[in-house]
Amino acid sequence: MKFYSTNHQVPDVDLRTAVTKGLADDNGLFMPEHIAKMTQDFFENLSEKTLPEIGYQVASQFFGDDIPAEDLKPLVEEVLNFDIPLVKVSEGIYTLELFHGPTLAFKDVGARFMARLLGYFTKQKSEIINVLVATSGDTGSAVANGFYKVPGIRVFILYPKGLVSPIQEKQFTTLGENIISIEIDGTFDDCQHLVKQAFLDKELCNQITLTSANSINLARLLPQSFYYYYGVAQMMKMEPGKKIVVSVPSGNFGNICAGLIAKRTGLSIDKFISATNVNDIVPKYLETGKFEPRASIATIANAMDVGNPSNFTRILDLYKGSHAAITNDVIGSAYNDEQIRETIREVKKEFNYLCDPHGAIGYRSLQAYLPTTENSVGFFLETAHPAKFNETIEATLGEPLEIPERLKKIIEGERKSYSLNVDYNALKKFLLATK
Ligand SMILES: *Cc1c(COP(=O)(O)O)cnc(C)c1O
Repeated sequence: MKFYSTNHQVPDVDLRTAVTKGLADDNGLFMPEHIAKMTQDFFENLSEKTLPEIGYQVASQFFGDDIPAEDLKPLVEEVLNFDIPLVKVSEGIYTLELFHGPTLAFKDVGARFMARLLGYFTKQKSEIINVLVATSGDTGSAVANGFYKVPGIRVFILYPKGLVSPIQEKQFTTLGENIISIEIDGTFDDCQHLVKQAFLDKELCNQITLTSANSINLARLLPQSFYYYYGVAQMMKMEPGKKIVVSVPSGNFGNICAGLIAKRTGLSIDKFISATNVNDIVPKYLETGKFEPRASIATIANAMDVGNPSNFTRILDLYKGSHAAITNDVIGSAYNDEQIRETIREVKKEFNYLCDPHGAIGYRSLQAYLPTTENSVGFFLETAHPAKFNETIEATLGEPLEIPERLKKIIEGERKSYSLNVDYNALKKFLLATK
């Protein structure tokens, strides 16, 4: 399988190049040249399949030409060694709980897959790969955990000072070893911009091998499609014969993009809801046809505080730029902090289910949309465990929240982090000095 750049200014590349480069030389994002339909047999037996079985069959489509089955199968099985259950919340509304992995967020799936894939490629070639990643919270921990102690790989995590939750920060700053954390005196968009600058810096890239573990990296993006099939598989058993709507709390739009790719392979999801906080750049685009990035606004659903969603380019590419085609599949929806708090309280009180701030937006978007459709049910993605946002949740509910054991251990670790201003040259110097 070849992978092309969404800017179409450079030749197609193989998987290894796409994954180690992260971003194409023309600043575009890589996309698979074919998105074939999965077989009828695959869909007919979908509800009988386990998550690793689904993952392997989908992975074969995208990665099977480049990685032999005897390597790909155990790799997928290792990544998907935790459950992703579909849980009923209220009438017709379910949640796909993506937080049962090691860092309690959906990003574990993509980050663990990418780490193993890079590890697989570096085993064949002895060089140090430097992974550079910007995080608004959960990416950092998922990437740090996925890459921790992987030989031949060094990880630099850039995060906005004071804008990630204390637990999130601890999850990546306490590991040490090959994980280096840098707090940037700026916003997430600044961090993301610094990372992009580094990739476009030819002089730097000639001296060290740099790759990105942000959701712009294909190896993180594509595995995120696995659980959409698994969600639908579970839904088919619980609500047979219904049309399915999936509500995706979105920031950089990698997660929803993976879902749209799954739909393109034939997965029967009727509509997607792109559910955002007040950083509603994509819902605005769906409404007006104009994509207008702007500075991000801090919210209590901070992993979605993105003013220039990087994977939107991929969605445009997938639909050949057609606004009409996109709005046929994707509905926009946005809520502010007060509405998020309200929803957390309501869902807890009425259905005894605790949403995290991101999932709450997913729930509310679905709840508002379903009555406008017929014969539809849906699920929203619970993208992180509520305890990762314990301060917000406790303030919202006015009662203490039980912290899971595996989070407690992390909080006790010692924070190790470097500090830099929003200054590309300072970052470059830092990266070269760590060589
Ligand atoms: C990263 C993240 C999101 C946003 O996902 P995208 O793929 O960037 O759209 C939503 N919720 C949580 C908890 C996250 O960590």
